[in-house]
Amino acid sequence: MRDYKEIFKKYLQSVGKAYAREIEVVLEKVFAIHGHFTNEDLEKKLVEKQITKDIVEATLSDLVAAGLIRKIYFEDRVYYEQVYGHAHHDHIICINCGKIEAFQDDLIEKEQRRIAKEKHYEFLKHSMQIVGLCLECQKQKNILKRFQEQKEDKGIEKEKILPLSMILPGEQVEIVELNAGDNLKYRLMSMGLQTGQKIEVVSNSFHGPFLVKVQNARIALGYGVTHKVLVRRLENDEKK
Ligand SMILES: [Zn+2]
Ligand SMILES: [Zn+2]
Ligand SMILES: [Zn+2]
Repeated sequence: MRDYKEIFKKYLQSVGKAYAREIEVVLEKVFAIHGHFTNEDLEKKLVEKQITKDIVEATLSDLVAAGLIRKIYFEDRVYYEQVYGHAHHDHIICINCGKIEAFQDDLIEKEQRRIAKEKHYEFLKHSMQIVGLCLECQKQKNILKRFQEQKEDKGIEKEKILPLSMILPGEQVEIVELNAGDNLKYRLMSMGLQTGQKIEVVSNSFHGPFLVKVQNARIALGYGVTHKVLVRRLENDEKK
């Protein structure tokens, strides 16, 4: 088996591009990831190595062109995965958190070939995605529902209770519940994120970094965490 570095070097040579040290750093990171990743995932892993976003993006598109990795499209998201040395598989994706997993099913593979044959097509390739709600997000949904029912009894309208992940930049909210295990709850509370606290969302990229303003401090939260903080939008007269 030829080394992926050699293949990539040859490819760059063939299109007249240079193979720089930064490119090798990106390349090694990509081939250390097993599974699916977004360009943001990769950029995050390379920040400390001082690799710029531009180099990451350019290297990814060269890797796609070289046939070493491929893109998977899901709604407005793009994931990457290795092709070189990896067996064919299909995907199941969570519509809420964007988690993506692989599966392989012989019957599905066979049936697709049968359908192509039936329609008198020469079978070339297929893409197959199952879209759903992962177990974690189902739990989240159920907790949210139960919580909304409780709040309705207390006279708070249910449309107003949302996970923090759905709040747009500039909006002010009050934390109504931390739906998290003890460790995470403790960590959030130590940052001033507790029930009853009013906060403002500074940035929400719906995947990557999430910034909130708590009193006068700006705090960065992981996107996964923001699903677990339930909030209520503030009325105008409650805002600072
Ligand atoms: Zn398949
Ligand atoms: Zn999910
Ligand atoms: Zn995959």
